[in-house]
Amino acid sequence: MLNSELKISICHMYPDLLNIYGDMGNILALKNRLQWRDIEVEIVEVKAGERVNYKKHDIYFIGGGQDQQQIMASLELQKNKDAIFKAALDNNSVFLAICGGYQLLGHYYQPFQGDKLSGIGLLDVYTTAGETRFIGNVTAQAKFLKKKTVVGFENHSGLTFLNKDAEPFMKVKIGHGNNGKDKTEGARNRNVFGTYLHGPLLPKNPELCDYLISLALKKKYECDIPLLKLNDDIEGFAHKDRVGAKY
Ligand code: GLN
Repeated sequence: MLNSELKISICHMYPDLLNIYGDMGNILALKNRLQWRDIEVEIVEVKAGERVNYKKHDIYFIGGGQDQQQIMASLELQKNKDAIFKAALDNNSVFLAICGGYQLLGHYYQPFQGDKLSGIGLLDVYTTAGETRFIGNVTAQAKFLKKKTVVGFENHSGLTFLNKDAEPFMKVKIGHGNNGKDKTEGARNRNVFGTYLHGPLLPKNPELCDYLISLALKKKYECDIPLLKLNDDIEGFAHKDRVGAKY
């Protein structure tokens, strides 16, 4: 099968609510790294009040947001809970959720002030906000990546803890990660990934971006599709510049 016969559909969930610190850059990285390989890309936005068509998409992206926007996002995610579970667990679709979006894929997010926000429990994690905000650069390691190192930027007051059915996404080397205590960063359940790393994450971590693309292609075409190697000089410079950086 030629790449030009391939197509990946990306669902950008709640760009009107959860889209801070340049998280939109993750959509652009996925789009460009697919198109640079002559793979067709469709991007569909699902905004507040709209329904997710779980049969249609291969990758779902949810960005980060302030506590206030998370209130609405929590209500919206509940309305789409069944569709999201079908997409993730029946169809093996790829999910990437950043920070506030990540917290709401867990069981709940308890802000420092205000009512507890329900999550949908797709990730077996829970989050309670502390008094201090974790702000700064993060260097972490993902065991399933060859180069392993992942860089990003964290800005959250939420402290996330993993229960038994969630595996850590990464191990923190520099920074706080999930809670500043257990050296975990993010969480994974099959093809569902949640992380605190803004940056945006994927442009600075091309290996991770390609890993998610490979998972989405395998989910859709039910075989491993090798990805053409791209010139990642610029991405590599941006990545190396942040490895080990604190602020
Ligand atoms: N409001 C949440 C927190 O402070 C998430 C913040 C974010 O998405 N950057 O933890």
